[in-house]
Amino acid sequence: MKRETKLCHYGQPGLPGPANPPVVRASTILHQTLESYKARKTARESDDSVLSYGRRGTTTAHALMEAIADLEGGEGAWLYPTGVAAISAVLMALLRPGDHFLLVDTIFAATRTFCDDVLAEFGVRYDLFPSDATDLTPYIRPETRLVFVESPGSQTFEVMDLPALCKSAHDHGLTVVADNTYASGWLYQPLALGCDVSVIAGTKYLGGHADVMMGAASATGEAAQKIRAGAIVTGQTLAPDEAYATLRGMRTLSLRLERHETNALQLARWLEGRTEVARVLHPALPAHPGHALWARDASGSNGLFSVAFVPGFDAGALADRLRLFYVGSSWGGFESLVMPIAPARDRASLRGLPEDSQILRFHAGLEHIDDLIEDLQTAFDALSESQ
Ligand SMILES: *Cc1c(COP(=O)(O)O)cnc(C)c1O
Repeated sequence: MKRETKLCHYGQPGLPGPANPPVVRASTILHQTLESYKARKTARESDDSVLSYGRRGTTTAHALMEAIADLEGGEGAWLYPTGVAAISAVLMALLRPGDHFLLVDTIFAATRTFCDDVLAEFGVRYDLFPSDATDLTPYIRPETRLVFVESPGSQTFEVMDLPALCKSAHDHGLTVVADNTYASGWLYQPLALGCDVSVIAGTKYLGGHADVMMGAASATGEAAQKIRAGAIVTGQTLAPDEAYATLRGMRTLSLRLERHETNALQLARWLEGRTEVARVLHPALPAHPGHALWARDASGSNGLFSVAFVPGFDAGALADRLRLFYVGSSWGGFESLVMPIAPARDRASLRGLPEDSQILRFHAGLEHIDDLIEDLQTAFDALSESQ
């Protein structure tokens, strides 16, 4: 069955019945007999779809776990209240005091903050490596256990050669964890490219309507067992209403991504032609250094791209003049967004960019492209008149 068809069928509770899994709110699950109670407790030890107690998720969350595991090609998927909660839970499940790990230098900022502020306190240290590395040997120490990747890179969209990197990591016995929020289980599957764990902030495209917070971790092998055990012992799950909203959003994941992609590409090409623009950072543009790798490994791109302006151009003033692109954190909803960004300049890939070049990160929403381009045109015109 094709993936688009599966999206329409995930979690259906059986006929006759509703098209979506019901929102089942429960803490306690009631039994008439002790025998029945004990049987459930035994069954749940090897089966996450057994309804036993709210802390293990109800049938609504179970339906979503199965859907995400299937989409990602994992042996299982575990749910968390936010994307950052999923990332921190995975790192806590896989690392121990004294361990060392590697973090790609284009990593999402909050992931790095968690490593700096929490893991360091537990004696778990990391080193950064550049996103174009394919051989990890120079970065590895005797106590290195794991490598955390994100492709394309957060905010600046560098493409990593994940198959080559995973091979190098596995040659050294490292576990590879990928932040797959950009592709959201759809544009490529990190597990199929060799990663052991794939984390998605479902807050973005899985929910897709700017009204859900959630995270998921899918995994294979030993990593899957550790993540599962960690989720159980730390009491991680997703509330039923959030699980429902996420699965409901996933019904239209492929359709929405198609529109996000075409809108973003048209905007990116239009912006490439502007004299105010120094560089458009979008992995699917032919001029992007990662274009060939992206074309090899991914089936498409999403609504995100960034624009570095020529030195002296006031990007903030442009953002303020846009009417259809709102300023706001996050992305992945139906709405267009714009945000000034200041990616850490220790990213190896940014060394060629002048220090005073301001950067805006855009998210192309589902609006009509003509309106979005007109909005940009109007804002550029107003800016040049006021100068
Ligand atoms: C948004 C985001 C996260 C965190 O998700 P939250 O649900 O906001 O905690 C993690 N990684 C990436 C790449 C993101 O864009």
